[in-house]
Amino acid sequence: MNFDVVIVGGGLVGASLALALRETGLRIALVDAQAVRPDTDAWDSRVYAISPGSRAFLASCGAWAGLDVARLAAIEEMHIFGAEDGPELDFSAYDAGLPELAVIAESGRLQSALWRALADEPAVTVIAPVKCASLRLTPEEAVLELGDGKTLCASLVVGADGGESWVRAQAQIGVDLHVYHQRAVVANFSGDIPHRGVAYQWFRGDGVLALLPLPGARASMVWSCANPWAARLTEMSAAELAHCVTEATGGVMGELEVITPAAAFPLRLQRVERLVAPRVALVGDAAHLVHPLAGQGVNLGFRDARVLAEVLAQRGLETDCGDYALLRRYERARREDIAVMQWATDGLQKVFSSPYRGLAQLGNLALRIANSQQQLKNLLVQHAVG
Ligand SMILES: Cc1cc2nc3c(=O)[nH]c(=O)nc-3n(C[C@H](O)[C@H](O)[C@H](O)COP(=O)(O)OP(=O)(O)OC[C@H]3O[C@@H](n4cnc5c(N)ncnc54)[C@H](O)[C@@H]3O)c2cc1C
Repeated sequence: MNFDVVIVGGGLVGASLALALRETGLRIALVDAQAVRPDTDAWDSRVYAISPGSRAFLASCGAWAGLDVARLAAIEEMHIFGAEDGPELDFSAYDAGLPELAVIAESGRLQSALWRALADEPAVTVIAPVKCASLRLTPEEAVLELGDGKTLCASLVVGADGGESWVRAQAQIGVDLHVYHQRAVVANFSGDIPHRGVAYQWFRGDGVLALLPLPGARASMVWSCANPWAARLTEMSAAELAHCVTEATGGVMGELEVITPAAAFPLRLQRVERLVAPRVALVGDAAHLVHPLAGQGVNLGFRDARVLAEVLAQRGLETDCGDYALLRRYERARREDIAVMQWATDGLQKVFSSPYRGLAQLGNLALRIANSQQQLKNLLVQHAVG
């Protein structure tokens, strides 16, 4: 089976890349270890703050229109609180001249909207569920052997297979890993006070707590905290958890009730040595892991997919799509955005979780200064909405 591009990993980023490449005339295969999971009515405890830039990209891929608008919620304002009831940093879509700062969408529904769009797409061959057995990289091509005995030959293999990327390991691209010894605990709640499109974030001594709006008087919590407290939160009864989060959020949405149980995800900062190798490119979590406090992980991944698709589409008909100079163009275009996000999220995390009070106070001072400078706030918003 011969293709121009084989994408390993059909998560949000890999599936969006396959769709973004559908009109380039390239022959695309998408391989995933898992089969697509159908939507259920239950609320997904994993939600994403999709930036306006990512939303436009998903619309251009034909996936956004497949989402049920009744399951989306716009963030119109964001209130961020410094340590020890410190100063507040506010962002508003109105001040920034935008319809919204982000849209909250459920992970599972986004995934199935992408896979539904792929099912209607003749330019993309989806092969799932299947395991990858081996990857041989030669100067001329990449040869991927699958667990079911099939062999795929391609000019380019894209690793979109998440933080533990198998493709990255096969291409011998090293990583620099920093474990935060924290978990992000996620759960959904209903409240008795409407959120009015406001997202909240608190930098606390025990971590970073965020409450993101869901449709109706519902909200999704992401509490990034040290492993022992994360374990405690996931062990609590529904009533205990609701009471604890109502207290921690200062009752901004009144008395909370749990609608999906808590789940926890380990947090890591992961930098890769290179985004590309001969016949290989990395996108999404395979290329970077960041702390979720800025809600930017998947948005960074969508920007990878968008830029890689643009570079491949603009390559000129004669150029081999796995040409190393072309892949380096993709790498150069993405390096800065990724580095800035890793630096900013890691820096904020370190400042506000430091045992030295002075550092948290410095962080509070930075929030106070930022809040008084509308132009600076506009710049921060422009970066986050891209
Ligand atoms: C608690 C939490 C909250 C977050 N909140 C936000 C947020 O609000 N906004 C945001 O932008 N980001 C957020 N993120 C980050 C976001 O979850 C990730 O950046 C995003 O899911 C990465 O998508 P991906 O497609 O790159 O990888 P994945 O979602 O990991 O997908 C990888 C795919 O590859 C497949 N795969 C893996 N290995 C193989 C293999 N060997 N062969 C074949 N297939 C394989 C898997 O089955 C999977 O389908 C959050 C993260 C956490 C932990």
